[in-house]
Amino acid sequence: MNFDILTLFPEMFQGFLNSSIIKRAHEKGIIETNLINFREFANNKHQTVDDAPYGGGGGMVLKPEPLFEAVDHLLQNVSERPPIILMSPQGEPFTQRKAEELARHSHLIVLCGHYEGYDERVRQYLVTEEISIGDYVLTGGELPAMVLIDSIARLIPGVLGNETSAVSDSFSTGLLEYPQYTRPVEYRGYRVPDVLLSGHHKNIEKWRRQESLRRTWMRRPDLLQSVDLTPEDITFLKRLKSEADKDQ
Ligand code: SAM
Repeated sequence: MNFDILTLFPEMFQGFLNSSIIKRAHEKGIIETNLINFREFANNKHQTVDDAPYGGGGGMVLKPEPLFEAVDHLLQNVSERPPIILMSPQGEPFTQRKAEELARHSHLIVLCGHYEGYDERVRQYLVTEEISIGDYVLTGGELPAMVLIDSIARLIPGVLGNETSAVSDSFSTGLLEYPQYTRPVEYRGYRVPDVLLSGHHKNIEKWRRQESLRRTWMRRPDLLQSVDLTPEDITFLKRLKSEADKDQ
């Protein structure tokens, strides 16, 4: 997977790209990242990338030319046009499903905005999609781009040491992940649930599925609408609901 990242602040990516799983993925040659400062594509003497908005108002707007030209440059030797993603608080909300969809590509171009926003022609004629990482406004698209790249990279085979960990992560199954425990068995009088110590794999699987359902039902009931529930799951959820009704 090749990520081309267009940014005015490439230095912000250094810690992210040189640590942990992303660093290892680079070393293994599974992902490649190319940081492009699109200021280099500004066609004016002072390499200006922003200007005042037409119609007045505060803030500066990113000019179209540097972004269009930087993307043209990246597409020069490319046979298949990759998704060109604009990080934007006005975009489609980012989800695990979207990360899975993007992880099927071998090349992505990611545009990080700054200042007040972009010239609208970038949105209309240059990018193929616009993604938001949440309903809040950040100073620039760099942190959102790192969020996007990290969540996609961990889905690429070979990036995680233990392949099963991405499969059971929250949202991958459509549910939140079940509670996890490790040694010691008892800490300050708090014990690990007996079933996890039993070595009985079927019971452990059942407990994990039920705890996943319980946690999702309590914290994010909206997610249950889009999960394929088994008859057993439905019975368990009904039981949770009737227990909660009794407690009220
Ligand atoms: N004035 C813009 C608006 O209201 O939509 C916000 C501009 S914001 C200060 C600057 C840049 O940060 C955006 O162009 C975008 O690249 C990035 N950004 C900020 N919040 C974001 C979010 N929630 N998701 C994705 N990108 C975001």
